[in-house]
Amino acid sequence: MNAEPANVLPWQNALWEKLTALHRDQRLPHALLLSGAPGVGKRQFASALARYLLCQTPGAGACGHCKSCQLYDRGTHPDAVWVTPEETGKAIRIDQIRELNHFLSEAAQQGGYRVSVIYPAEEMNINAANALLKALEEPGERTLFVLVSEIPGRMLATIRSRCQLYPVELPPENQALGWLQDQVEDAQTCRLLLGLAGGAPVRALELHQRDGLEQRRQWLKALAQVASGKLGAVDLAATWMKLELVELLDWWLAFMADLIRHQQAGEAVTLANLDARSLVPKFAARASGARLFDFRDKIQDYRLQLLSKANPNKQLLLEDLLLQWSLLFRNER
Ligand SMILES: [Zn+2]
Repeated sequence: MNAEPANVLPWQNALWEKLTALHRDQRLPHALLLSGAPGVGKRQFASALARYLLCQTPGAGACGHCKSCQLYDRGTHPDAVWVTPEETGKAIRIDQIRELNHFLSEAAQQGGYRVSVIYPAEEMNINAANALLKALEEPGERTLFVLVSEIPGRMLATIRSRCQLYPVELPPENQALGWLQDQVEDAQTCRLLLGLAGGAPVRALELHQRDGLEQRRQWLKALAQVASGKLGAVDLAATWMKLELVELLDWWLAFMADLIRHQQAGEAVTLANLDARSLVPKFAARASGARLFDFRDKIQDYRLQLLSKANPNKQLLLEDLLLQWSLLFRNER
C-alpha cells in the first residue's frame, strides 16, 4: 500500500536525475537512505521512484498509463510495500519486517522490480532492525529498499552502512514560495506557512490543508487570555489535548524566541511569528526577562520528553506549561 502522491517535486529534480541515471546504467544500489527535514517531500520522492521502477514503459519518469502505473496509483501494486508504524509514534515491529521478508522471498508478481519503502526508518525497534539487516545483506535480484528518515543518527549504524545515503535538501526560499503559491495563492499566507514549517514546503502545505493557521489563531488568543487571567490553565489544557503537542511546543518555542529577541532589541527586531506581530510587543513589555529564558528551557525539556517516548502525562505537562506561562505575567518580582 502507498498513500503518497508520486510526482517529483521541483527541488528534487537533481536527485531524481542522479538516481534515474544510475538505474539506466544498472548501477542503482539496492538500498537507499533518504534523509531530510520533516515535510521536505522524502516520502513523495520515494513514491515517485517506486512508481518509476515498477512502470512497464518508463521515460524520464513513470508513464502514468501502463497497468503497473494504474495499479500503483490505486495503491494496489503487488510489488510495492510500505512499512510504517501501525500507529503514529509507535515502533515498527519485527513481525512487520518478517512480513516484508516473506514478500521479498517470492517472485515479483508483475515480473519487474520489488520496492519496499520503510518510514520512518528510525522507528524500527531493535528486533525489527536486526531482521531487516539480514535482508539488506542478501538482497534478491531487482529489489530496492528505500529507507526514509528524519533522524538517521537514531538508526542502527549497521543498517545505515548498508544503505547509500541521499539527503533530500530544503529548497531555496524563492523556489519553496513559488511552489506553495501555486497551491495556496496568497503570498503573505505562504510566507507565514513556510516560516512555521521551517522552510519545508510539503509541511507548509499540509499545515494549510488542515487549517493549521486557524489553530494558530486560537492558540495565540488562548495564550493572551491565560496571560491576563481570563482563562484557567487546567481548562485550557484539557481542550489542547487533541492537538499535535510537539508541533504546539515548536510554535511556542519560536514564539518565546521572538519575545526574548524583542525584549533585547525592541522594535528593530524582525519577528519570525508573522501572525503575532501585534502580540509580541505586548507580551514582551509585561513579562519578566529572566523568567522568559527559564520558561523557554522548560518547553524545550518537555519537547524532548515527548520525543523520547518517555510517555509523559500530556494533560499535566500542558497544565504545568500554561500555569508557568501565566506566572510570567504576574508582577511578583
Ligand atoms: Zn507506467
